[in-house]
Amino acid sequence: TDQVQEVLEAAGKVYTVLKIDEVSNLGAARIRVRSLLAALKDQADREAEAAADAAAEKRGCPAACIDLNNLDKLVPASFTEKADGVVAAAEVEQREGASTEFERVQFTEEMRDAGYTILAPQMAPYHFELLVPIFKRAGYNAVLLPSVDHGAVDAGLKYVNNDICYPSILVTGQIMEAVLSGKYDTDKLAVLITQTGGGCRATNYISLIRKALKSVGLGHIPVIAISFKDLGEDNPGFKITPKMLYQAIYALQYGDLLMMCLYRTRPYEVEPGSANRLFDYWMDACKHQLQRGVRQSEFRRTVRRIVEDFDTLPLAGEGTKPRVGVVGEILVKFHPTANNQIVDVIEREGCEAVVPGLIEFFLFGIAGGIFQQPIGKSKKSALGSRIGLAAVKKLRKPVNDALEKSARFHPPADIYELAEYAEEILSLCNSMGEGWLLTAEMVELIRSGCPNVVCTQPFACLPNHVVGKATIKELRRRYPESNIVAVDYDPGASEVNQLNRIKLMIAVAKANLAEKEAEARAARDAARDGAPEDPEPVAEAVEVETTEVAE
Ligand code: SF4
Repeated sequence: TDQVQEVLEAAGKVYTVLKIDEVSNLGAARIRVRSLLAALKDQADREAEAAADAAAEKRGCPAACIDLNNLDKLVPASFTEKADGVVAAAEVEQREGASTEFERVQFTEEMRDAGYTILAPQMAPYHFELLVPIFKRAGYNAVLLPSVDHGAVDAGLKYVNNDICYPSILVTGQIMEAVLSGKYDTDKLAVLITQTGGGCRATNYISLIRKALKSVGLGHIPVIAISFKDLGEDNPGFKITPKMLYQAIYALQYGDLLMMCLYRTRPYEVEPGSANRLFDYWMDACKHQLQRGVRQSEFRRTVRRIVEDFDTLPLAGEGTKPRVGVVGEILVKFHPTANNQIVDVIEREGCEAVVPGLIEFFLFGIAGGIFQQPIGKSKKSALGSRIGLAAVKKLRKPVNDALEKSARFHPPADIYELAEYAEEILSLCNSMGEGWLLTAEMVELIRSGCPNVVCTQPFACLPNHVVGKATIKELRRRYPESNIVAVDYDPGASEVNQLNRIKLMIAVAKANLAEKEAEARAARDAARDGAPEDPEPVAEAVEVETTEVAE
């Protein structure tokens, strides 16, 4: 809507927006239509007045004070007919609209050499912290914005229409808050943003950021987009080399592994803070490695040691808490400000959080070439996707091997396996937003003993409502043990409501777990006492025995 407004206003036209939904009270719509008509009349009056003034000035004659509204009474009919032709000809003339195109500022080699600060918005704190050293090593002065930042939402609402999806508001808000904080020299500043290049608004972040920067007179700040697709955005001073890409794959794997280990052990730690301390130790070690460049052999050794360390961390009551999975739109799933610290909430409520990894999202993107054949992807792109997935699988092998040997952790499902899970429920051509991956993650969680799931949904995100909320009914039908709740996140959402929904789901999760435990206890007791499970054969057996004894 903002862009339509800009285009219309640049052409001197009136913009109005009518929101139609299923409400029965049309008062608000009527008021808007009336205001639009009044504005149009006002505009027409002003134009007529201006035209009359111009004509009078041209003629320079006292007839300028003729009452134009009563012209038809003053002028003979034959005369007005002639005039109507002239007016009609004038009316079809189009007004020229000013261009609303943004002037794209490139990030040049000179800017890189001059040490421009490159601000990167936060999305997934553990993973992004590990990516920053890779940029630094490649000579970029990258700065990652803070992971918890409530001011970002307000800043976003200032520069982005509140009808747009919540992540767009948050990302733009993070950047605008930092740019205007006074902490950075705005003449030596650039912004870095990831773009999916897909059909949803994640592809429009770049325009939203440029628009916001322009509105505060900082349109000269270059905005760099990273995307797997060609967005036609060339920045000579910024290049992702294959070496950086390799390192990024290692970084994402470290992030996923550390996150998994932390969430799996922290709820049961014997010594409070021990899991966090171990996590911090390994985070620092991994950052250090990425700063100087990590090799495959070192990576293999490190993941083995991480798994060993978390495998032997002293825990108590392991597995006695309900496991609660978190899935959803990528930013809301990982960003603590966006999801109101959902992992803390789950742990505070006495549960164990299970968050599927970030690397799967990228694999899902690569796999599009294979699964979108029915909607026009070529055989060549399918082959490219298969090669890409095989290469990443090879790089992931050390992690999967270490997890396989572990007593506490399990390797995540393969991307092809995930696709099979999702295919039961929806078409794999669902690629907008998190696409079929979101559904697949819910199935994976349920199948791996985590039937409790929070599906985080940003306000105004159509793609994830289709692949998230809309699939819950079918998931419940197929997996009756599933206990899924969809929670909406947006700038105005009540935190209490979110919390209540999560708490309600957790209460059900605890009741289900207690029931399961009671059943297991009963079965154990029965086995220990040697009592056979079915009473009828027991009676028969006893009868036979007593008869035999009597005989
Ligand atoms: S997936 Fe949804 S929330 Fe994320 S950018 Fe696209 S529309 Fe917005």
